[in-house]
Amino acid sequence: MSRLIHGWEVVVGLEVHAQVATKAKLFSSSPTDFGSDPNTNVSFYDAAMPGMLPVLNGEVVNQAIKTGFGINAKINRISRFDRKNYFYPDLPAGYQISQLFYPIVSDGVVEINLQDGSRKTIGVERIHIEQDAGKSIHDLSPTCSYIDLNRSGVPLMEIVSKPDMRSSYEAMQYVKKLRAILKYIGSCECNMDRGNLRVDANVSVRKPGEPFGNRVEVKNINSIRFLGQAIDYEVERQIDVIGNGGRIVQETRLFDSSFCETRSMRSKEDAADYRYFPDPDLKPVILSDERIEKLKAEMPELPDVKHERFTKEYCLPESDADVLIEEKTVANYFEKAVKASKFKPQESAKLIANWMIVELFAVLNKNGQTIEDIEFPVEHIAKLVDLILDKTISGKIAKTVFAKVIECGDSPAKIVDDLGLVQIQDESVITSAIDKVIQANASQVEQYKAGKVQLFGFFVGQVMRELHGKGNPEMINKILQKRLP
Ligand code: ADP
Ligand code: MG
Repeated sequence: MSRLIHGWEVVVGLEVHAQVATKAKLFSSSPTDFGSDPNTNVSFYDAAMPGMLPVLNGEVVNQAIKTGFGINAKINRISRFDRKNYFYPDLPAGYQISQLFYPIVSDGVVEINLQDGSRKTIGVERIHIEQDAGKSIHDLSPTCSYIDLNRSGVPLMEIVSKPDMRSSYEAMQYVKKLRAILKYIGSCECNMDRGNLRVDANVSVRKPGEPFGNRVEVKNINSIRFLGQAIDYEVERQIDVIGNGGRIVQETRLFDSSFCETRSMRSKEDAADYRYFPDPDLKPVILSDERIEKLKAEMPELPDVKHERFTKEYCLPESDADVLIEEKTVANYFEKAVKASKFKPQESAKLIANWMIVELFAVLNKNGQTIEDIEFPVEHIAKLVDLILDKTISGKIAKTVFAKVIECGDSPAKIVDDLGLVQIQDESVITSAIDKVIQANASQVEQYKAGKVQLFGFFVGQVMRELHGKGNPEMINKILQKRLP
């Protein structure tokens, strides 16, 4: 069930523009490198010089097909490129090549997690291949604008959802899941800061059971947090407009993150305004069964399947699996660590997951690092967990060891040796420490005898101190219970 806001139901459909991870552009051999000097990645074709012809980059087609598999969609054996005509200074050809009538992929699904732990299926209408435009730069000079054509012709997949989302939360979950799928497949780097994943949010409101209301399209949102804010703002605005007797007009708006609001850019064009027609320079894309089968065989394990495997194979709680599968690199790190442990996965996996999610991620967050950047080899986390499981060190000492590994990069075993952190499990040593504590705290012993049982913790603490934090906690507990009168 969707939640209503002042009696209104929210309807959201998203168009996600994902830059296909290829070295060359869609129809030319220019590089797609990020951060190059302006207008250095531009061929005659990208600049729309007369007589230049497009040559389709087959790798883009392959990546789009794989993405189609990733969302369980239909791969269309025949797709075709159309010209979408409009004038813009950073679009030198005067048209964008896209696939309106015959997209390469249709009818997919993305499963998302909801707050209450249930799942919801969001439909994906289509994925089509298209070119990106260049960039106009208006803030370098007071008197003129600059054009950078480096992005002109960069390959994009436009992934168009059905209007199936009913809240900003669902929309954010959808983009997160889609991003995970694309990254697993490797069809898009999904680096939102670099603009290689951009979202247009279509938002409308209606009374439950009524037909869809007019929608507004909020363009080019480049972070998941902004997506949530833009939708929330837009919903409030639309409810307000309608509440005051107004109507929502179909239009394109932009989200201004510094004011956290959407503003009107232009009224929305219809497809007819673009005078779409088939591009006469490009043949239809016809896919053979062999090509499709070959790509299918190359598909990696996807996030949902991995999630299920992690909960079954390693007996992980759903919430741990959620976190570990989000990035393929993190999932791989986890599995390698489990393999490296000398204990069975059923014994070590949960503890390894804890150490990664709590301690390792805290360091990554603090330093703004990813798991690939950090110098914490898989073997170290496995060894740390082994040392806890075979009772060489306590969980508490393990924290000290962990911090030292981060600090100096030595292995956990070496640190335990060097600092003499091996847990004391010698019964006689523990017993004599306990006796010493009992002798030194006669009055507390009296109180304990008189029934103040909560003092037990005090004694454990004192014994631990006596043993410089290295006593085996279970043994201390057991022996203390016997020795205290
Ligand atoms: P266009 O290509 O003009 O943007 P589409 O019909 O392809 O239009 O729809 C674009 C997106 O708008 C899709 O993601 C779709 O789910 C969404 N959408 C369509 N109608 C509505 C609506 N009434 N409210 C919210 N989203 C909608
Ligand atoms: Mg659109």
